[in-house]
Amino acid sequence: MSGSEFKNLGFIGLGAMGKPMLVHLANKLPAESRIHVFDVVEEAMNEVCSQYPDRVFKASSAKDVAQKSVTIITMVPEGSHVRSVYLDPSNGVCSTDISNKLLIDCSTIDTATSLEVKDHIEKYFPTASFYDSPVSGGVVGAIKGTIAFFLGCAESDPNIKRLTPLMEMMGKQVIPCGGPSLGLAAKLSNNYLSGVIAIACSEAFDMGMRSGLDPRTLAKVYAAGTAQNAICDRFCPVPHVYPEAPSSGGYKQGFKVQLMRKDFGLAVDMAKRVGSKNVLGEVGLETYDGASKDAKCRDLDSRVVYRYLGGNEDWLPKQNGS
Ligand code: NAD
Repeated sequence: MSGSEFKNLGFIGLGAMGKPMLVHLANKLPAESRIHVFDVVEEAMNEVCSQYPDRVFKASSAKDVAQKSVTIITMVPEGSHVRSVYLDPSNGVCSTDISNKLLIDCSTIDTATSLEVKDHIEKYFPTASFYDSPVSGGVVGAIKGTIAFFLGCAESDPNIKRLTPLMEMMGKQVIPCGGPSLGLAAKLSNNYLSGVIAIACSEAFDMGMRSGLDPRTLAKVYAAGTAQNAICDRFCPVPHVYPEAPSSGGYKQGFKVQLMRKDFGLAVDMAKRVGSKNVLGEVGLETYDGASKDAKCRDLDSRVVYRYLGGNEDWLPKQNGS
């Protein structure tokens, strides 16, 4: 990366993911770089601006960020927020001249909204470039700088040499997924699979445990057999099988069940839109919808679906005779 490449960078959305991503940029960009930030929550901006007083500057709107920056990263919750950040007629990014600018949306949203924003930009600012680039790896990954980016473009994209070093400051891996909105399609497809596995895994453990098996034995069996997968191995929904899994800490750290519900719903919608048969979609969505509304599960790691489905979490003390 040349020293002047990211001289004026914009960052919109300083939440659980955005803030640690911004902190990596503030620590790693060349000394002359300035970062212009905006969030609807004033306090979120004040915090990072006081942490990096010579580096990070508060903007008054998404439009203000766009006026001051050449490259802009956005990290907001849902499609409606992305639409407002880019397309709001008085304060959005596209309400000022963004010719030649590089725009990267890292939010996990529906592909239709992402394409709508891209089409709008292509129509009104043909020299600007917009990319979807959702991330995986969670809040812990964002803090550690180990997240993966699923980039909505081909490996041969002319901007890949500008995009990759920027993303590598915030994460470990950048995977070009082929074209516009395909980063999002990849992310939603991944989270659908991961969500379905967590339900299947919870049910499989439960039936084995109710039959008299120790879950640690079941985990060994799955790992040795054809059921081996990362949810069983590292994110085991049953507490105390894998000590570092969120379940073992009361499901407190991890990927919130409401976010899984959101992504699962987006994946089911995408499947419908592209005509993909999706027999597990409705039942999976119903399950995550229920879990995200359940007071025993809300705000906890999505693998709490094991609790939601009635799995026994107190198996360890009982088996020790305590
Ligand atoms: P968050 O709610 O913690 O943060 C979002 C931030 O965006 C907030 O600070 C909010 O004030 C701000 N915001 C909302 N609307 C805005 C607007 N119009 N203009 C400016 N700022 C606005 O959410 P998060 O956990 O950081 O997630 C962000 C995105 O990343 C979501 O799409 C989520 O699905 C995705 N994601 C989250 C995780 C995770 O583990 N949290 C993991 C991977 C991907």
